[in-house]
Amino acid sequence: MDINEILTHLGENREEYYNAVSPPVIQTSNFVFNTTGDLRKALQNEINAHIYTRGNNPTVAILRKKLAALEKTEDALVTGSGSSAVAGAVMSFVAAGDHVICVQKPYAWTYKLLAAYLSNFGVEYDFVDARNVDEIEKKIKPTTKILYLESPNSLTFELQDLSACCALAKKHGIITMIDNSHCSPLYQNPADFGVDIIIHSATKYLNGHSDVVAGVICGSKQHIEKIFHGSYMTLGLIISPHDASLILRGLRTLPIRMERSNETAFRMAKNLEGHAKIKQVIHPMLPSFPQNDLAKKQMKGGGGLLTLQLQAETKEDVERFISHLKHFLIAVSWGGYESLIMPSIVFHDIPGIPDSPIHWTFIRFYIGLEDYDFLMSDILEALEIL
Ligand SMILES: *Cc1c(COP(=O)(O)O)cnc(C)c1O
Repeated sequence: MDINEILTHLGENREEYYNAVSPPVIQTSNFVFNTTGDLRKALQNEINAHIYTRGNNPTVAILRKKLAALEKTEDALVTGSGSSAVAGAVMSFVAAGDHVICVQKPYAWTYKLLAAYLSNFGVEYDFVDARNVDEIEKKIKPTTKILYLESPNSLTFELQDLSACCALAKKHGIITMIDNSHCSPLYQNPADFGVDIIIHSATKYLNGHSDVVAGVICGSKQHIEKIFHGSYMTLGLIISPHDASLILRGLRTLPIRMERSNETAFRMAKNLEGHAKIKQVIHPMLPSFPQNDLAKKQMKGGGGLLTLQLQAETKEDVERFISHLKHFLIAVSWGGYESLIMPSIVFHDIPGIPDSPIHWTFIRFYIGLEDYDFLMSDILEALEIL
């Protein structure tokens, strides 16, 4: 379906709400039925009916339709955070004794979900260097239920070959999941490569205004129903109608925001490469990126993140560089309108990830919607102090 159609019209039955252009926030916990028969019928299709807002809500339902269409899947669920989307998807497909294979450097709380939380319930796991599919195959056991991907990850942008991973998983009857937050549905549609479940932190690009925390799970009707009747309803992974309406508003501008952030980030990455005070620029679309061919094959854009490794002698130098930046806020997260930095110097090691090879000279930049010159001159001036 055409993206303009999805973002402007899909799911919006305006005649149902006074022909309002912008959909209302249906801020209600529950819905009335005329007869017991009507309620009984609705309960047979709770995932689509409007019975109780923990399950479904008309404002949230519009968002579900748009997100499913953007990811080219049959259905989607929206959750109260990206992390609850990850946990809810994984927990719906494992039981005690089952095994999960996960990429080696996933989002920190995904790592914790497997290594420090689900392990308490008897779920086994292996983290593998999934840049090489053979490494995945070596870890497959009869009890392996999920292959969990994150391509690219969000500091060094390691990729997995999605077609190869899915072919391997299919051969062994293993379900594939991916955290697709980095690309958004605009720059990568994992369903095209055969991935079963696609997860986003909607906190990032999808909402895009740094004012909502939310998550998304996309997949086939069958898989989404399994998650709905499993973790979604029992753990209450709900998003509020109000937050859903803010994400609907954010989505209207997703293409122009992505284009702007992507273009500025790539231009900065190219022009910073080779600078005397920079050891390394990491961005998936740079020819120097080790998996650049795969990035170009799978992704339509590199996104707004780039990582710089400074040519710095001491930690104090890194701190001075950072304090010299005027236009980048020091903050976690990314995907909003504002440019950010996340220096690895703040971590003793990446939370929960043993021997993560992240050197203190690494700084992750998120490039927001400001001008190229405004941002670039700031970095170039700060580099002078090194
Ligand atoms: C932020 C993030 C998450 C977690 O999302 P929340 O909305 O913060 O819960 C998961 N994966 C990636 C790649 C992220 O960047």
